[in-house]
Amino acid sequence: MNMKITSLALVTVLTALSPLAHAQKPVETIIDGVAGFQDTPMEPDGKWHVHDPARPQPPIVTPGTFSQNATPPSDAIVLFDGKDLSQWRDKGKGGPAQWRVEDGVAVSAKGDIVTTNKFGDIQLHLEFREPTPPRDSGQGRGNSGIFFMGLYEVQVLDCYNNKTYADGATGGLYGQHPALANACRPPGEWETYDIIFTAPRFGEGGKLESPAYATVILNGVVVQNHQAFRGATNWRSLGSYSPHDAELPLGLQYHNNSVSFRNIWVRKVPMVNEP
Ligand code: MG
Repeated sequence: MNMKITSLALVTVLTALSPLAHAQKPVETIIDGVAGFQDTPMEPDGKWHVHDPARPQPPIVTPGTFSQNATPPSDAIVLFDGKDLSQWRDKGKGGPAQWRVEDGVAVSAKGDIVTTNKFGDIQLHLEFREPTPPRDSGQGRGNSGIFFMGLYEVQVLDCYNNKTYADGATGGLYGQHPALANACRPPGEWETYDIIFTAPRFGEGGKLESPAYATVILNGVVVQNHQAFRGATNWRSLGSYSPHDAELPLGLQYHNNSVSFRNIWVRKVPMVNEP
């Protein structure tokens, strides 16, 4: 055994013994069948931990009927029309998007994808379909996500007969604000997101002037009403802002589930700050 390996082994043993390392190991808590965490930071409201399983579940609202797979408005920037993913690239490697396109549908696989173009304030339309039969539970069931500016996630999950921590359910601003309602359709049926996203504004020295906002309509039901993000969304930590460009690529998450997408388009809708 050479010195290098011996040192590495020693560091490994010390790390394992350190109380800090022990404290950082996530401890899942299950309350009323909801798996989440209570060893995470408290949200600024002082009521709930990040991903708190005790946080109330969004009330179930059965969506009504409305138009799906409809033609985009004439000034829309079409990001996926069923043909190819030429408007997207692989987030990790930067090459072509690795998702499958079959029967006019893009299916998440291998890694996150991001748009080749950059966006700030936008209206987004997107349709998704959760896998059927459903597999796994909680965050493991049909997880994907829409990452505005690559940083601010509106959760995509199969929450039809599937409980998870409220701030991680469908329509939630992940880890921050649960949806106002659970308007999920059953897996195997197409679901529609219409989202108005406002980019954060940063001033002198990168100081935050106004946060990012999202108004989220899921299957025709408002589930976020001009809700502010507390910062970039993360697993098990509070959101925080770091200054960034006014426009950044839009991302879609691959989370080890095959989630289908179709009819993705955006319109640029710059918010005017002055009254
Ligand atoms: Mg997600």
